[in-house]
Amino acid sequence: MPELPEVENLVLELEQALEKREISGVEIRNEDILRTPSFWIKRNLPGKKILQIQRRGKFIRIFLPEGFSLWFHLGMTGQLLLENAVGPLKPHTHFILSLGGTHQRLIFRDPRRFGRVALTPYRGERILKSVERLGPEPREWGREEFASEIRSRRGRIKNLLLNQRLMAGLGNIYADESLHRAGIHPFRAGERIARQRLVRLHSAICEVLEEACRHGGSTIDDYRHLDGQRGSFQAFHKVYGRSGEDCESCGTPIRKIKLSGRSSSFCPRCQR
Ligand SMILES: [Zn+2]
Repeated sequence: MPELPEVENLVLELEQALEKREISGVEIRNEDILRTPSFWIKRNLPGKKILQIQRRGKFIRIFLPEGFSLWFHLGMTGQLLLENAVGPLKPHTHFILSLGGTHQRLIFRDPRRFGRVALTPYRGERILKSVERLGPEPREWGREEFASEIRSRRGRIKNLLLNQRLMAGLGNIYADESLHRAGIHPFRAGERIARQRLVRLHSAICEVLEEACRHGGSTIDDYRHLDGQRGSFQAFHKVYGRSGEDCESCGTPIRKIKLSGRSSSFCPRCQR
């Protein structure tokens, strides 16, 4: 599933490719992915110029004139691809934007269809509740405040890190990698972790995300850059996707355990 670094890379690429371009047309091939009505999108989107593109949590927000915003969430397997406007469409393409003055189109494809698309008027975050409820970005948390917040929670640290209302942007990959870097066991209760270790965890989260951004994110299965290229950070994972392999720090085999439907990979020796 694409997380903060993957979405951040896409946003930078979209900015380069799309800013100041005009959306000349829209084709909706599957209405199930829409969070706002298709007639409203078809009426309001064509002719709009792309002003600015931003990331919020795992959401991509394209700012348009008159207060409109176009939002994408990639879900589990979503891809945004910029491609030649002629030629056959890839399977699972649900949403297509034609770009004025170019021979290119922006397509949204998503085999598993957990991704979402919405067009909102002014203050769109009020309409998309899952955006309005997002917690601060990892870098927006002060280290001490982050530690205090986690220590006030009973849940297991892994689940707390995945809670988008507490902090936006982390998913399974970077939660596991950050916990390994900080030496914290994923099942430990937040309230039972020493303050200093949580301060260290906050630094680990910021470091891991920054390194992943620099390497173009991680491609496990479906994540692709705007031009179809894969990310490369998966080569630097220490625990995610490495169960059974030896921990690089201590040689103990990495374990993978399922908790409330999600798997966690960790080193049983380095992480306490
Ligand atoms: Zn280890």
